[in-house]
Parts: sequence; structure tokens; C-alpha cells
Amino acid sequence: MITADFRRTAGFLSIFVYLASTSIAGCLPWAGVVNGGETGSLGTASRGLLLGGEHLAKRGEHFRFYRARDRRYGIRELTGLVQRVSKTLDREFPGTVLLLGDLSGQGGGFISEHHSHRSGRDVDLAFFVTSPSGKPIHGWPLTRFDRFGAGLREETVCRFDAQRNWMVVEALIADEESRVQWIFVSHGLKAILLEWALNHERDIEIIRRAASILHQPGDSAPHDDHFHVRIYCPDGAAGARCKDLGPVWPWIEKGEHGKRWTTKELMALALD
Ligand SMILES: [Zn+2]
Repeated sequence: MITADFRRTAGFLSIFVYLASTSIAGCLPWAGVVNGGETGSLGTASRGLLLGGEHLAKRGEHFRFYRARDRRYGIRELTGLVQRVSKTLDREFPGTVLLLGDLSGQGGGFISEHHSHRSGRDVDLAFFVTSPSGKPIHGWPLTRFDRFGAGLREETVCRFDAQRNWMVVEALIADEESRVQWIFVSHGLKAILLEWALNHERDIEIIRRAASILHQPGDSAPHDDHFHVRIYCPDGAAGARCKDLGPVWPWIEKGEHGKRWTTKELMALALD
């Protein structure tokens, strides 16, 4: 026989379970979105996810990954950018292969060794390297260079290839389909790149943009052994739940990018 006491307790319990489940749902801001079957970059580069996304092959026509692990997912704008840049490099220097590091993992979110790379908008690119006499050296990713552009690998001295590395920067910035927000690189290597471009009379507008976009971040490694590239959120519906942080450069057309999201707005978007 069910007593009144038991019914009261059961009533309390069900209210408690209901409240607990709604507050747990509240802790999972992307749950509604995930269930909606949506795709794209969600949140910021360092607090976000990647739903769906494009998956790059281990090697393409003009690029290959320098690590075996599968962190080769990104939004279409990023995977397309990487392929176009590698093609441009091959046109300028036939046979050149662009070495790629991590993009994002499947589904995005945290991956080891990175603060960001969570929402399909970041990619690491290896530097191009030469011998001291200027002969290209292939397949030496993650070689560190000092502010004079000198590096050491397996007790062999090498140099930062200012020309080919500048061409990477130029191809990234000049790309007409994707918009680059940052190319993280150390102060010293930034100076070498800009100096090379000025001395070789490259497009002055690209050089101006590069002076802003090339940047040594204050809150992570100096990036003296690879470029870290971040692109802006896509415009329109594809970028509706994507959040840019930091500057919107004057040459970037303001769409969604002009909007500054508050945490409350972002949570509301994620939960609706
Ligand atoms: Zn990175």
C-alpha cells in the first residue's frame, strides 16, 4: 500500500530529478545544437566545437601532413584555403610541398598541445627551410629559428627561407575566399619576412596587411618553429554560432564579424 508519505517523497524526488536534468543540460551549451544536426564552427577558437567539417587527406597534390595523427578537420573555408595556398606555392616554385601540422580533431574541442584549434578555424604550417647557402631543404618541420633566421637541426645549421615563407604569407592574405585574422609567428621572423617583401617590392597592400596579421602572441609559445593561421568565422548562416575574438581588420568586410557577442548571447544561441 502506498502511503501519503511515500507519495510526497516520490513527488520531491521527481522534481529533484527534473531540476537536476535541466541544470545538467544547462552545462552542455552545445547539446541542442548537436541534436539539431547542424554543421560548422561553434564558439571561439579556444572554446568551441566543430560540427561536421571537411576532412583533409594525409597528403594532397601539393601538401602533406608532417604528423601521423588525424587532426585534419576544419571548416570548408580553412581546408579550401590550405589547398589553394599549396597550389599557389607549387606554381611559384614547382614541386614545392606545403607541410601541414594540426587543424582540429573530429568534432573539434580540446586537443593536446594546443590552447585553440577547437573549432575548425586554425591550422599550423611548417616553415620552409634552406641550407646556409640557400638550397631548399625538404621535410624539416618544427625547426626553431632565432631572430636572425638561423636554425639548428640534428647539428646541421639551416636558414629560415624568407622567400618561400613570405610567399606562404602572401598567398594566405591575398586569398579571395577565406579571410585570415592571424598568422602567429615570432617577432624576429616577422621582421625578416617584412624586410624580404619590402626589398623585393612585393604588393605594398599585402605587406601593410601582413604587418598587422603577422603577430607573436603574448599568451602562448613565440611561434619560432611554425606558422599558426586563424581565419575569421564565415559570414551568414554558416557563421551564426561562430564567435570571433580580437581585431577585425579594416579591410575585412563587416558582416557577422562586426558583431561583438556577449557570453549571455552566445549561451542563448547555443541553447536555442
Ligand atoms: Zn597552432
